[in-house]
Amino acid sequence: MPTPSTISKCLRAGITGGIGSGKTTVCRIFESLGIPVYDADYWAKWLIVNDAEVKQAITGLFGSDAYLPDGQYNRALVAGIVFQAPAKLAALNAAVHPAVERHARTWHDEQARKGRPYTLKEAALLVESGSHQFLDALIVVTAPEALRIRRVMTRDGVSEEAVRARMANQMPEAEKVRLADYVIVNDGEHSLVRQVWRVHQALLEASKQ
Ligand code: ATP
Repeated sequence: MPTPSTISKCLRAGITGGIGSGKTTVCRIFESLGIPVYDADYWAKWLIVNDAEVKQAITGLFGSDAYLPDGQYNRALVAGIVFQAPAKLAALNAAVHPAVERHARTWHDEQARKGRPYTLKEAALLVESGSHQFLDALIVVTAPEALRIRRVMTRDGVSEEAVRARMANQMPEAEKVRLADYVIVNDGEHSLVRQVWRVHQALLEASKQ
């Protein structure tokens, strides 16, 4: 059983980057080094369907039609409303983001009890949601815009316009880089494995202090 001091040393790192930058790809490398990764976008979707408080808040905002008769989330309906009403989008985020933050903390504490040196929280909107301020370290993955667009078009089979529309909801890469403790350049030229290894070593070192 780890001691309380071991628990307090398990750092919370976050990883973000623009759409198609390669966050998930980089996270797979960290996982191969034994570092647990919390996929905030996955868990946000899970909490919307499974967390009673979040469901209540969403039903209060969008009505009972926000959930289909089988309990699934009516994403199309909610997306249609928030697209027209930024205040509703802010209210939706205010209901979901704190729930994800609580859930991520519980998950992190479990990993700490297992003696992990640090954990990674992966989220596309980590900085936009403000949750980066609760982390010990921030990693930002970058890639040239044209390459990011090409990657997402290939991966998702969507048009350039569709990718640009998703990019428009995200903070510019340069602003995230300004907040970063570590930057990983995923331009297809710099070795990803070498960069991840360096960040991993730095975080291992920081977790000992
Ligand atoms: P999103 O924000 O859309 O979730 P992401 O930042 O998590 O994207 P990935 O899904 O990791 O990005 O990468 C986007 C696509 O580009 C994937 O199909 C991935 O396989 C590919 N890709 C990422 N990095 C590289 C690379 N260095 N070389 C080749 N392909 C890559």
